[in-house]
Amino acid sequence: MDGTVILAPLAGGLAGACVGSFIATLALRTPEGWADMWTGRSRCRACHATLCVVDLVPLLSWLALRGRCRYCGAALGLWYPCVELAAAVIGGLSFAALPSPEAWIATVLGWWLLALATIDLVAWLLPDALTLPLVGAGLLLAAWGEPLLGFVPPTSLAGAAMGAAGGYLALAGIAFAYRRLRGREGLGLGDAKLLAAAGAWLGAERLPLIVLAAALLGLGLAVLQRRELRAETALPFGPALALAFWGGFVLAVLS
Ligand SMILES: [Zn+2]
Repeated sequence: MDGTVILAPLAGGLAGACVGSFIATLALRTPEGWADMWTGRSRCRACHATLCVVDLVPLLSWLALRGRCRYCGAALGLWYPCVELAAAVIGGLSFAALPSPEAWIATVLGWWLLALATIDLVAWLLPDALTLPLVGAGLLLAAWGEPLLGFVPPTSLAGAAMGAAGGYLALAGIAFAYRRLRGREGLGLGDAKLLAAAGAWLGAERLPLIVLAAALLGLGLAVLQRRELRAETALPFGPALALAFWGGFVLAVLS
């Protein structure tokens, strides 16, 4: 049996756990700004003890300490292990299911979308600094993915351009109409830019299915959280859209 069949997904999963640790911190620090991202040392949120290397090994430290701070015993919460596990699954699954250039692209796209989803959960925003480069990357891959990387994109450059414009206009139009009708914000323009990115990567023809899948996933997540659904219930649409986007990309590349 070819060793790379196991080694590549394993490496993708291990790298994912480390990237997930970074994404979890990035999302938590978004409300204060990313300026002290590189300087601030990791501390226990309860006793403020400075954490050392053995406390910060992705997933393993959390398991070894049974989810409690080594110094004060406070529960560490599920945020870090969940985000680390999600990033590990993205890396492992991409390299298990896809051949080489596609696996790399699916992994990086998945981690990027995980960052957007977690930031939306923590801070209720999808930063332009992350959504707009994703739109550009989708257009670049549609134009030069094949000659430069040997990657056959799921859509043509025309399909990607129409997808980006259509995705943005569809959600921006709904947001505008909602504001006029109800007098308050329904959807953020960050959601519109994320759907523009999905359109650029997957093509205009897949947009209706992505929106439908995201709406169903969003409702499913709300039911799982046992939220009472009323017209004014606020749901972060970003995480559901990010998941539908990544699933749509993997399925489009597989087919
Ligand atoms: Zn502590």
